[in-house]
Amino acid sequence: MTIRVLPSQLIDQIAAGEVVERPAAVVKELVENALDAGADRIDLEIEAGGTRLIRVLDNGCGIAQHELGLALARHATSKIESLDDLEALDTLGFRGEALPSIASVSRLRLTSRVQDSAHGWSIASDGGETSAERPAAHPRGTSVEVRDLFYNTPARRKFLRTERTEQSHLEDVVKNLALARADVEFSLKHNQRRVLQLPKALERGEREARIAAICGAEFLEHGRYFERTGAGMRLEGWLAAPTYSRAQPDAQFTFVNGRFVRDKLLRHAVRLGYGDVLFQARQPAYVVFLTLDPKRVDVNAHPAKIEVRFRDSRLVHDFVFRTVEQVLAAAPIDAPRAPPASASVFHAGSSVGTAGESHQSTLGFGAGPTAPDYLPLYARLHARAADAPLQVEDRDVPPLGFALAQLGGVYVLAENARGLIIVDMHAAHERITYERMKRAVNENRVESQALLVPITCKVSAPAAEAAEEFAAEIERLGIGLVRRGPAEVQVTAVPALLTGCDATALVREILADFAGSAGGTGVKEASNEVLATMACHAAVRANRRLTLAEMDALLREMERTERIDQCNHGRPTWTSVTLAELDALFLRGR
Ligand code: ADP
Ligand code: MG
Repeated sequence: MTIRVLPSQLIDQIAAGEVVERPAAVVKELVENALDAGADRIDLEIEAGGTRLIRVLDNGCGIAQHELGLALARHATSKIESLDDLEALDTLGFRGEALPSIASVSRLRLTSRVQDSAHGWSIASDGGETSAERPAAHPRGTSVEVRDLFYNTPARRKFLRTERTEQSHLEDVVKNLALARADVEFSLKHNQRRVLQLPKALERGEREARIAAICGAEFLEHGRYFERTGAGMRLEGWLAAPTYSRAQPDAQFTFVNGRFVRDKLLRHAVRLGYGDVLFQARQPAYVVFLTLDPKRVDVNAHPAKIEVRFRDSRLVHDFVFRTVEQVLAAAPIDAPRAPPASASVFHAGSSVGTAGESHQSTLGFGAGPTAPDYLPLYARLHARAADAPLQVEDRDVPPLGFALAQLGGVYVLAENARGLIIVDMHAAHERITYERMKRAVNENRVESQALLVPITCKVSAPAAEAAEEFAAEIERLGIGLVRRGPAEVQVTAVPALLTGCDATALVREILADFAGSAGGTGVKEASNEVLATMACHAAVRANRRLTLAEMDALLREMERTERIDQCNHGRPTWTSVTLAELDALFLRGR
């Protein structure tokens, strides 16, 4: 074997394999260059899913005539000079390899004009062979035209999917970039047809219009804006209500310092923030922007720069997780934001950030009504009803009112100052129990009730092993459990809150939760899941008759409970019908 230095065109083509694996990646690199050049308007034209033509025109600073050739040269960049620059990057590009890579696998034309030049200049490259500069008519800014992508690399070309698939990848990339940079106008044409037209968006309302154009109006209807700072970071964006959860993770947009990233850590943190109100396989929907000192994040972790590495990842994870959790707990965002004319006042535009104080509940379910001062739900209802001030006499009626009746063995009907409240008692009780168990576990004061006769039950082998491996966690939950054999355990105690539940079924499910979490995502999630399982077991089953006093107690307990608006499965726990809505229904008062 002879060792050879590779020719530079081949080097570029090899690099192209990493940087531009498909048309969408070319678009990403070209648009990022335009953004780095300070453009505030970017027009894209695509043909045949980007395989025939990709043209990106920007109104940025342009490239001077004598630098056009350099722009296509490998490792030539205007964006960094030293390693120090790399450590505090404020541009999207920095590797100086996109243009030469793209040029090596296509027919590329680069045309540009800088501010003080009388006209523009253009160079062409065919598979990496660059021509001399020629004068060209061009407004200030740059256009890059990429034709016949991969025409000289058949192996690459084979990996391309249908035009439609490539086009949809490409649109995703443009959407991500357009979400990241609302201050820039974008337009996209495919086969001469306009696909996207996004005007500059500076104010909140304009940004929301862009979000709606990209993520769908429905997302925005269920989403709420929030902004928080802490630990030297800033997180802002839109979180969709847990009730708007999805089966696929297809509406999760995370940005770090203006860069779209598909970052596992961030997604995990947000998911965990939703964890309390969203269980099982449901996926939350959100658009979040994290801003932090560029020194604290390394974007040079991936050739396409789609993944990042945080220097203090624990801190970032914590900040994001806590922020999302607090935002979701602080203000209910289950209600549509643009209610129809007849919408109830409870559902009128609420603003995120009106955190009610979390009150410790010492009264058990079934205790009588208590003074409803400063309860979380109060604060939230007041915030929600801000444009319809409470009348003085309303003050004596608690937010969820007083119970009237039980309907279908499932719903509690109550009357408050504005009309009718309908509560799904199982869902509500499940949330109450869950929050209560969680607090008790966190404070290490779960009361447990010894069984008079211990129950022996058969379980799967992994479950029996989980009983041993997670013995400490299980004990913390107030469950007395010992392994009796390769596939057998004995239950000696259950949490007092769950007295009378089916201990065998409970233990089997909990062991399955733990077994499922082994070696996986960490104890916090496992225990939340376990708590949800327990809450579900404890909750009042449908068809149980409640007395009015019991129903009132449930309503008061709800008012005291954080995150009461959804049950653990993300379903709503209550809703309301105002008198005004009833009047409208019966055509009264016209
Ligand atoms: P990088 O973006 O990593 O620097 P590229 O190969 O993408 O590398 O681009 C090389 C250089 O060409 C950039 O550093 C920049 O100076 C110049 N350039 C590329 N595209 C544009 C553009 N649209 N407007 C102005 N300058 C550009
Ligand atoms: Mg670049």
